[in-house]
Amino acid sequence: MTIPTITLNSGRDIPQLGFGVFKVDPAETERIVTDALEAGYRHIDTAAIYGNEEGVGRAIAKSGIPRDELFITTKQWITEQAADRSRPAIESSLEKLGLDRVDLYLIHWPAPANDLYVEAWHALEQFQADGLTSSIGVSNFLVPHLERLLDASDIVPAVNQIEVHPAYQQPGVQAFCRDKGIAIEAWAPLGQGKYPLFEEAAVADAAEAHGKTPAQVVVRWHLQRGHIVFPKSNRAERMAENFDVTDFELTIGEVAAITALERDGRVGSHPDSFN
Ligand code: NAD
Repeated sequence: MTIPTITLNSGRDIPQLGFGVFKVDPAETERIVTDALEAGYRHIDTAAIYGNEEGVGRAIAKSGIPRDELFITTKQWITEQAADRSRPAIESSLEKLGLDRVDLYLIHWPAPANDLYVEAWHALEQFQADGLTSSIGVSNFLVPHLERLLDASDIVPAVNQIEVHPAYQQPGVQAFCRDKGIAIEAWAPLGQGKYPLFEEAAVADAAEAHGKTPAQVVVRWHLQRGHIVFPKSNRAERMAENFDVTDFELTIGEVAAITALERDGRVGSHPDSFN
C-alpha cells in the first residue's frame, strides 16, 4: 500500500495517513505502536501530555525501521513558564522517544489565557534552526491565534492540527490555513466514536458501493479532502482496516454528501476556553 505524502511549507514530506496514540495506555504503548508499524504505518502522532512517548520510542527502536522512513510528531504543553521550560520540554521528549530529532513539533493548545503561545513559538523556531525538529507547527489554533502568530514571527507553521471530522470541519480555520500554506491535520478523524457517523446514509451507502467499511470511507474522505489523519485504535485488526484505504476512490458526489454532514458537532474542548 502506498500512502500519499503531502509536502509541507518546510519542504519536508509527511505521510498523509498515520497512527495517533491519544489515550493509549503507557503500559501498552510499545505493543500497540509495534502492531501499528507492523500494519505498515510509518507516521506516529504522540504528545508529551499523553505520557506514552517512552513506549513509542521503544517500539521505534525495536522495529529496526530506518529513521528516515519514519515520521514522528510530538507536542509541547505550554505552561506558565514557557520560555524557561520550552527547551527542557523538547529535550525530554527526544530522550523518551530515543531520537535526536523529531519530524514535527507542535504547540499542543494555544491556551490564550496564559498568553504564552507567541513566546513559545519563537522557541520552536529556534528548535528547528538547531535541528531538534525538521518542521514546526501548531495545534488547536483558531484564526485570531494564527493571525497573531504570523504577525509576530518569521516561520509560518507547517501544520495546524485541529478537530476535523464530517460533523465538525471548521471551514473558516481551514480556508485561512489553506491561504497561508498551512496543512491541516485532522484530529478525532472518526469523531472519537462519539456520534453515529458510521450509520449516516452518506457514509453507509459509500461503504456498500465500494465494498469497504464505514471507517474506511471516513478515512478515505479525509484523504480526498487533503487532510493529514492519524486514526487511533488499540486493536490490530482495526489498525489494518484504517490503513487499507488506498485501493478505492470516493466519487465527487460521495465526498460532497459526506461533507454535507457538517453539524457543528465538536467532540473536544474549545481552544478559547482550554487553558
Ligand atoms: P479517532 O477519531 O481516531 O477515534 C478513535 C476511536 O475510534 C477509537 O478509540 C475506536 O473506538 C474508534 N475506532 C478506530 N478505528 C475504528 C474502526 N475501524 N471501526 C470502528 N471504530 C473505530 O480519535 P482520536 O484518537 O482522538 O484522534 C486521533 C489522533 O489525533 C489521536 O490519537 C491523537 O494522536 C490526535 N489528537 C490530537 C489532539 C490535539 O489536541 N492535538 C486531540 C485529540 C486527538
